Amino acid sequence: MSLEDAILHAKECGLDGICITDHHSMAGMEKVKEGPQSNGVCVIFGMEYSTTQGDFLIFGPYQHLPKGLDALDLLAYIRATGGVAIGAHPFRRGRSIREDLFRTRFVKVAEGMNGRNNSDENQVALTRLPRYGTALVGGSDAHNIKELGRVKTELPIKVLSRRDFIEAIRYLEDTNFPVKIYS
Ligand SMILES: [Zn+2]
Repeated sequence: MSLEDAILHAKECGLDGICITDHHSMAGMEKVKEGPQSNGVCVIFGMEYSTTQGDFLIFGPYQHLPKGLDALDLLAYIRATGGVAIGAHPFRRGRSIREDLFRTRFVKVAEGMNGRNNSDENQVALTRLPRYGTALVGGSDAHNIKELGRVKTELPIKVLSRRDFIEAIRYLEDTNFPVKIYS
């Protein structure tokens, strides 16, 4: 879907904002200014970073991050550079995140609900991750307009920039705040 369509449709879905997380790319930033758009929808750029131990939605100054990092190196780098990493679609068959990364608290926040996981996979995430103290968010993982807004997260903090978003996610990590996730 085009970014323009996503922003228009987000407004129709009643979303206050969307995160754009293309695979290993933040190139969308060249097309759309980050932050609130003319229709009020706030656009935040991150990316989905794949490792052999799972996929992560990362937010920070990562336009030039090379591919191929191992999950532990990636997470250490994100921490050192003031960003955040959200475990993407944990427990998805064939593309799950190694569970010990939650147990050891290397990953402190993850998608409890992902719009492209099946309900069994989401149920495993929703029941197992709280035991490790992992904070949960929801994400649509939308690859087209129809999928946009299928899963929504109500953040406890107003977000108008990537910095605000990172702070909101950090707050969830630190407090394990129970966000509302809608689907
Ligand atoms: Zn993925």
